[in-house]
Amino acid sequence: MIFNNVQKQIARRIEEKPKLSNWKDWRWQLKHSIKSLDKFERLTGIKFEEKEKDGLVKTFKKFPLSITPYYLSLINKSNYQNDPVFKQAFGGIGELIVQDYEQKDPLSEEQDSPVEGITHRYPDRVLFHVSNICSMYCRHCTRKRKVGDIDFVPSKEQLSKGIEYIKKTPQVRDVLLSGGDPLMLPDSKIDWLLSEISKIPHVEIIRIGTRMPVVLPYRMTDDLISILKKHQPLWINTHFNHPNEITASSKEALAKLADGGFPLGNQSVLLRDINDCPRIMKSLLHKLIQNRVRPYYLYQCDLSEGLSHFRTPIGKGIEIIESLVGHTTGFARPTYVIDAPGGGGKIPIMPNYIISWSTNKVVLRNYEGIITTYKEPDSYEQILCDRDCENCDLELNLDDADESEAIGIEKLLSDADDTISLVPEDNERLQRRDENA
Ligand SMILES: *Cc1c(COP(=O)(O)O)cnc(C)c1O
Repeated sequence: MIFNNVQKQIARRIEEKPKLSNWKDWRWQLKHSIKSLDKFERLTGIKFEEKEKDGLVKTFKKFPLSITPYYLSLINKSNYQNDPVFKQAFGGIGELIVQDYEQKDPLSEEQDSPVEGITHRYPDRVLFHVSNICSMYCRHCTRKRKVGDIDFVPSKEQLSKGIEYIKKTPQVRDVLLSGGDPLMLPDSKIDWLLSEISKIPHVEIIRIGTRMPVVLPYRMTDDLISILKKHQPLWINTHFNHPNEITASSKEALAKLADGGFPLGNQSVLLRDINDCPRIMKSLLHKLIQNRVRPYYLYQCDLSEGLSHFRTPIGKGIEIIESLVGHTTGFARPTYVIDAPGGGGKIPIMPNYIISWSTNKVVLRNYEGIITTYKEPDSYEQILCDRDCENCDLELNLDDADESEAIGIEKLLSDADDTISLVPEDNERLQRRDENA
C-alpha cells in the first residue's frame, strides 16, 4: 500500500496535515530529504548516543547523508541496526576507515576520460556522467570522489563537451548515461540531452542507469515517461539490492517503465550483511523478474575508499551464482562481475563447470553434481577466416558487419592476425634481448 502508517507518520512529522499527493510528488520528496542526523532522529524517533553522534557527523562530513522520506519509510525501526535500507542509506563510522589498498578512483575512470564527463573504456561504448547528485546517497557508492560533494547540476555547455566527443568518435554506438543519477536532471534537460545524443547518426542505443525506482519511485511521472518514449531504443538499468526494496511504490514505477516499452535491467552490488545470502538474493531476483526487470550484473564491491566493511570474499559471489544456475529461471541470474581495479573493465566470474577435456570429449558437471560428457563432432571442417567476407560461404550482409579490429584475446584467436602472444610492456627478459642485441 502506498502511504501506509509508517509513511503517514513520517509525513506528519514533516508537515502538519500529511497529504498523499505531496508524498507522491518527487519534488516534495527531494525538498524534504533527510540530510542531517537531527532530522533523521526527529523523523524516525531513533536516538543515538552522544558519543556515537561524533563519529556519524564525521562520516557525513566526508560523504553526505541524503535519504528521501520514501526510502526512509522502508527502515524497520525496531531492528534498524540490521536493516538493509538503513545500512545502505545511513551507514556508519566504518566508512572512515580507509585501507591501504583502497583508492578514490579504483576503476581509473578519470584516466580513461578524454573530456570532462566521459569515460571511454570499451571500444564501442562510453559512460557519460551527466549529474553528480542523487536523491539518496548510497553508502557503498563506488564514485564517492565525485558524487554528492557539491550540489552540482552540469550546464548545457558542460554537457555539450561530452556530446561533442561522442559526435566526433564514430565507434561509439552505445551511450550510457550515469552519474550521480541522470534522472535528477529536470525533464526539459533530459529531453534536450536525449535529443542531442539520438541525433548522432552512429549512436544506436542509449542507456540510463538510475536508482530512482528504488529510492524515489515517484520520479516516474507520466511526463517523464512520455519524454523518454520519444527517444527509443532506450534501455534502463536500476539498482535494487534487497527484496525489502520491492514495494507497492517501486512496483508501480517499474510497471510504468515496462509499459513505456523500455527493457529494464538491474545491477546489484554484493554487500556484506545486506544481501550476501543465496536465499535473500534469490528472493530479490524472483521479485525483479515478476516486475519485468531482468537481473543484469551482480557486482563484487569495488575497492573504493571506506567500503571495506561492505566487502565479501569473491567466494561468496561464486556461492550465490552456484545456488542460481540450474536452480532457478535462467534469466533471473545476473552475471557476477569484478570491475577490474586500474580500469580493465568488467570481468565475469562463474563457478567451474568444465571438469576435463580430451580431443573429442568434454567432461562437465551440472548443478546437481552429476558428471556428464559431451561428445564433440568427429570432424569439423574449420573455416579459416581471412576476413574476406565477400567470398565466404556464410551469409553476412556487409553493411551490418562489425568493422572493428580484433583486440586482446580475440586477436590471439583470430586467423586473420599473426600475433602469437600478448606480452607485458615491461617484460624483463625481452628487455634483456634488446640490450644484448
Ligand atoms: C560498465 C561500464 C560500461 C558498460 O558496460 P556493459 O558491460 O556494456 O554494460 C561502459 N563503460 C564503463 C566505463 C563502464 O564501467
